[in-house]
Amino acid sequence: MPPTPSETSTIERQRLDADIVCVGFGPATAGFLTTLSKQLINPDGTPAVESAVAPGLPPQVLCYERADDIGFGVSGVVTRARALMASLPDLKKAGIPMAAPVGEEKMLYLLDPAGASRRSAVLRGADALIRAFRWMLPVRYDALNLPWTPSFLHKRGGLVLSMGQFMQWVGAQVQSTGAVQIWPGTPVARALIEENKVAGVRLLDQGVDKQGRPAEGFTPGMDIHAALTVVADGPVGPIGRQLDEQFGLPEGHHARDWAVGMKFVVDLPEDTPLKPGTVLHTFGYPEPEIFGFFYVHPDRLASLGIFVPSWFDSPVRTAYRYLQHWMLHPYLWRYLKGGKLRSWGAKTLGESGRRGEPRLAGDGYARIGEGSGSTNVLTGSGVDEAWATGTQLAEAALELLKAKKPFTKENLEATYVKRRRASWVEREAIVAEKSRDGFQQGIVRGLIGMALAGLTNGKLNLGGEPVPPWKRIPTVEEYYRGRISPQDIARLREECQAKGVSLHGALMDRAGWPAIPYDGRLLVSHQDVLLMGGKVQAPPGYGDHVVFLYPELCRKCGARICIEACSGQAITPGESGIPNFDREKCVHCGVCLWNCSQAAPGNPDRMNVAFRAGTGGLHSAEN
Ligand SMILES: Cc1cc2nc3c(=O)[nH]c(=O)nc-3n(C[C@H](O)[C@H](O)[C@H](O)COP(=O)(O)OP(=O)(O)OC[C@H]3O[C@@H](n4cnc5c(N)ncnc54)[C@H](O)[C@@H]3O)c2cc1C
Ligand code: SF4
Ligand code: SF4
Repeated sequence: MPPTPSETSTIERQRLDADIVCVGFGPATAGFLTTLSKQLINPDGTPAVESAVAPGLPPQVLCYERADDIGFGVSGVVTRARALMASLPDLKKAGIPMAAPVGEEKMLYLLDPAGASRRSAVLRGADALIRAFRWMLPVRYDALNLPWTPSFLHKRGGLVLSMGQFMQWVGAQVQSTGAVQIWPGTPVARALIEENKVAGVRLLDQGVDKQGRPAEGFTPGMDIHAALTVVADGPVGPIGRQLDEQFGLPEGHHARDWAVGMKFVVDLPEDTPLKPGTVLHTFGYPEPEIFGFFYVHPDRLASLGIFVPSWFDSPVRTAYRYLQHWMLHPYLWRYLKGGKLRSWGAKTLGESGRRGEPRLAGDGYARIGEGSGSTNVLTGSGVDEAWATGTQLAEAALELLKAKKPFTKENLEATYVKRRRASWVEREAIVAEKSRDGFQQGIVRGLIGMALAGLTNGKLNLGGEPVPPWKRIPTVEEYYRGRISPQDIARLREECQAKGVSLHGALMDRAGWPAIPYDGRLLVSHQDVLLMGGKVQAPPGYGDHVVFLYPELCRKCGARICIEACSGQAITPGESGIPNFDREKCVHCGVCLWNCSQAAPGNPDRMNVAFRAGTGGLHSAEN
């Protein structure tokens, strides 16, 4: 992580000493704090273990969360909830808003009703066969309901949740123990590293200009020193990436597979036939590479959206426009028509799984959650695994605190990493590790590879090593060869540059995608969704957290995919080829970090965008 200007100057900073400091409050930290907070204080109020920094008191545990409130993020909503229910046995009876037991689950292959998607000859052949034999197949509303889905994809016995609501509930539970504090609206800028040991964290400076230089009202971020730093800042967290750069990844590991998940929370029409707990998964449309999900909560609410993966070889990987076409698919639109947008958001998923696993522990720190490679890419499950790694670290930390042993690499490996290696998270991660490699060579090989890996417990896989996203993005001209002429592309590019807008809308219109019939309720423009759904805000006085590292690379960049893929229209064409970044529209999805067509010099696994710690973003806890 390159430091900001204020961090390189010699500024005096306040210091606070704690025993444990956590970065981020997602499901991983929620699992950690739930387990830890129950065992720090005895029933009579005396400390079960003593703090090293506040003698006579229980350990001082602080958690800093970037978003402006707990649960203001976007996250998973269907989970088997094995680890969640092990920690919270009464979870199903807790009355958490928007929670429902998993009911009917369906996997649907969506045919292309618009005739505009880019399908291979094999898929076109399959589509023709499905249409020809629709009278004998379970085909309705241009969708084939797969008669059988493998058990590894099912979430039977689990829960449909709003992670925003769930996180707010857990946050209240752990804070009510009095044993831990959670501070939202407080981004961590970097880890404090002293002689290869993590000694705590530094909070973000306030009162700085866009470049991070001290300005009016400058307040330097405090240094929090702690014996254990718990790094749980998710798949694109700056602290996790700082540690990766400092300590490197284990031999053979890399994080090259990503996806953006973009979702709507919708009030369904009053006469909806969909029951709470219904789970629909889709593939095949709007492009074959794009997967969709539709989960039904109680009270006619639904969470729905799409995943656009990094192996989708398109230089216009726009999630928002594709999401609208997906919603308009006849199979889904009959449920959505007459509904109303309630909330919207987007977030990156780290899809490298175990292969992206960093060093799980070192002197003074441990990594948990998706940033530690816990997400299972075969079963499409991240929440339960993140939570489980948090509980494993909490048990390890309690063991070490009780034994008065320090949080060294050796001790953390003998307690936390050992527990993790012996758990179901690890066993299932090994099965999943290579299960998606087939997607490197297309959707059909990818689906066959997943089925093979799932049905043989990971013994058989298809495909090769993942290719970094920047290496596989074709030029716009290559992608649209045979559909839009280079002359037309040049003209559209010029027009969009003059208007200061991204190119994908014009290209998709030209490639035959129908216009979106905006209705101001559910189908709204990208600009409107930021305010109506995301309620996006950014407090003043902070530096830009998205930085184009090598402007000369942007100047010669043909694809400018950062502009096309930006979830919030926060990156737009700029003068002399360097994109503009508007902090007030940024939803902190982290998509620009991996949607760049140029590698950073000297590091083929990093691209030309720095995604630093920042405040603001989504202001909704329904996602
Ligand atoms: C649209 C979508 C749908 C999904 N669907 C499912 C599903 O159905 N089932 C499932 O199991 N999983 C699903 N997932 C995946 C799941 O959400 C993740 O695996 C899970 O949230 C990972 O938890 P985590 O705690 O490791 O990280 P996160 O949930 O990413 O939490 C990290 C936290 O750290 C904070 N943070 C980041 N940087 C800083 C900083 N510098 N300072 C302070 N705080 C910081 C973030 O704001 C965030 O709150 C989905 C993900 C998306 C995006
Ligand atoms: S950030 Fe990357 S994709 Fe965007 S203009 Fe620069 S080099 Fe191109
Ligand atoms: S600029 Fe913000 S909204 Fe746009 S892709 Fe990057 S993180 Fe997401």
